[in-house]
Amino acid sequence: MATARPPRPPLVRSALLGAGIALSLSSGLHAQGPGPLQVTGVGEPVSVGAAMHRGYPAYPAWTLRALGARVDATPAGTRIFFGADTLEFMVGSPFFTAAGKPWQLVEPAYREGGVFYLPHQLFVEWLPRAYPEQIAHAPGVLRLLGGAPAAATTAAPPKPAPAGGGSGDTARRPPATPLGEPAPAPLVVIDPGHGGVDPGRIGPTGLREKDIVLQVSKRLARVLAERGYDVRMTRTTDTLIDLDDRGHMANEWRGSRPGLFLSVHANGVTDRRANGFETFFLSEARTEDERRVAEMENAAVVYEDNPRVTADDDLGFILSGLRNDFYIRASNTLAGLVQREFSDFHSGVNRGVKQAGFRVLVRAFMPAVLIELAFVSNPAEERLLGSGRFQVDAATAIADAVDRFFEEHPEWTGATH
Ligand SMILES: [Zn+2]
Repeated sequence: MATARPPRPPLVRSALLGAGIALSLSSGLHAQGPGPLQVTGVGEPVSVGAAMHRGYPAYPAWTLRALGARVDATPAGTRIFFGADTLEFMVGSPFFTAAGKPWQLVEPAYREGGVFYLPHQLFVEWLPRAYPEQIAHAPGVLRLLGGAPAAATTAAPPKPAPAGGGSGDTARRPPATPLGEPAPAPLVVIDPGHGGVDPGRIGPTGLREKDIVLQVSKRLARVLAERGYDVRMTRTTDTLIDLDDRGHMANEWRGSRPGLFLSVHANGVTDRRANGFETFFLSEARTEDERRVAEMENAAVVYEDNPRVTADDDLGFILSGLRNDFYIRASNTLAGLVQREFSDFHSGVNRGVKQAGFRVLVRAFMPAVLIELAFVSNPAEERLLGSGRFQVDAATAIADAVDRFFEEHPEWTGATH
């Protein structure tokens, strides 16, 4: 059983581990922080004092250039290229990705005076552990072992910022995308729910959720592609994809581009009068009805070949750790936009933005929502769901919400502004 399960993502572990280590470290620190850190390896060593802007020690991201890393400012944060790996940090978030995998620090990265700061924990704990062959930490010193890592040797030699230099990362560094080159098209991953042996909800006349959501998803893919998005679908045929794999696929497709994840579903209950549309983002359910929908959609796992029965524990941990996550706020916004667009054409009840713990959303590290188009259990809405008119309207409404999202949040498009 344990062997069938992929390794637990590092997210939770690092959070727990990190908390313990940060405590033991900070107990030995006075209020001014841990003192200067010398970073040495490529070019002149740099020495920087610990910044205490947020009450915990942090160092500027640019100091990692002395390890041969390339450090680029992005609109939302900072991207660090070390060897073959890309580490991506966002302003205000303790979460980051390294080579596509999620990690969590005890404290968030932040920007101050135009300089991007990374928590002390990254320098003294995470980097030396993640790259034991290449990076060593001793009190006050972070050192590159051997030479600069191969893929980073083209990086410009590190230039320590002048003392007190306020111009900061953003002003001095080239943007991640060279000027004059268009930013990559944002990715939109469309995830038609269910499929194969899992029919989803079934309507009074036999309409199956898995078929409806695939039809709407295909229409949506066409509309979004026409509008210039890079569109991927987790399935295009009547097949079952494991819930956990759907998010993994999305992360791989995204790389370091901006991206959104849209899971498309239809609702169903025994009360045939229930009707309307609702959009969920990932968080802990607050109401019985939210829990009901999450259980209904998470139940798809019973059709999987190797159901990962212990994953509910992961879900709980991740949810409790994600409350302030950057993506959660963006997902909430996106859910609101979908509801607004649906209210313009949908004849059913606007049931609003809701939150619950969906397995399919947990693994997607990007703004992600789950849309319940209508109730297939309601005879009138079952007819609607099967109609081409409704499917086109629903696809257009979702595409409009995606447009609005990127208009209102240019920081997610990767465009410099
Ligand atoms: Zn569903």
